[in-house]
Amino acid sequence: MSVVIDPNAGFCFGVVKAIDAAEQQLGVSHRLYCLGDIVHNNEEVERLAQMGLCVIDHKQMATLTGATVLIRAHGEPPSTYEMARSRNITLIDATCPIVLALQKKIRDGYEQMAAIGGQVAIFGKKGHAEVVGLNGQTGNTAIIVSSPDDIDAIDVRRPLRLYSQTTMSREEYNKLISNIEARIAEMRVTDADFVAYNTICSRVANRATQLEEFAHSVDLVIFVSGVNSSNGHYLYEYCRKVQANTKMISSPDEIDEAWFAGAERIGITGATSTPSWLMEQVRQRIESIANN
Ligand code: SF4
Repeated sequence: MSVVIDPNAGFCFGVVKAIDAAEQQLGVSHRLYCLGDIVHNNEEVERLAQMGLCVIDHKQMATLTGATVLIRAHGEPPSTYEMARSRNITLIDATCPIVLALQKKIRDGYEQMAAIGGQVAIFGKKGHAEVVGLNGQTGNTAIIVSSPDDIDAIDVRRPLRLYSQTTMSREEYNKLISNIEARIAEMRVTDADFVAYNTICSRVANRATQLEEFAHSVDLVIFVSGVNSSNGHYLYEYCRKVQANTKMISSPDEIDEAWFAGAERIGITGATSTPSWLMEQVRQRIESIANN
């Protein structure tokens, strides 16, 4: 029996950068506030909590003065920066550079649309931290579209600029664009001013294809993910379609040795929020079961 860890699994560089920033600061101060979970993985959050990282929400931030607060990779709306200024809070801004560039793009699009009576729409999950940060660039006036069929709030007769949250499915985004174009045709809008920007992170967009190849190459997939990771659930379901023999766990203790019967090649993979050290622990656990 051989055990292999998916070489493409593990944190994306945006999350790595945020965790590096937290560890660096904790090495100096042993105490750091973080606005929201730094990553959707309880094991990693717990590891950093033991080093002194304390997760807070916006209400708790509003009670602090003179503290140091980390902004995670998802980014924040302008109101968070204003709050920090007014409360003398030092920010360590670990917003992913890709998200930061998207925030700027949306801000520019918003200004352009505001001048000509147009609209900004964002394809993303309502209430998701990244979407809150993106919508903040438009003074919270963007139309948030959560599903490709959810286009009734858009007026296709007015100018429209469309953007996507970085972690959405490219397939669904393309479907949304097609639905808007179909609505334009249906309403016979001959002078439509509609631009859709490709703003999905390639790290996420390519992950499904890479995962498909990996799942095909093994007899059993152990998918490691935090239970609260939406990316984890999406990728797990995707993986299961390719390799029916896929099991999801959040820690090595959940492994059941009965799964290994008849499996020659076992693959370990995970979400973009699954730490490499956790997948390594899973590998060691499988090998110790096999050796006994
Ligand atoms: S998924 Fe992409 S955009 Fe999001 S944090 Fe990671 S690298 Fe940045």
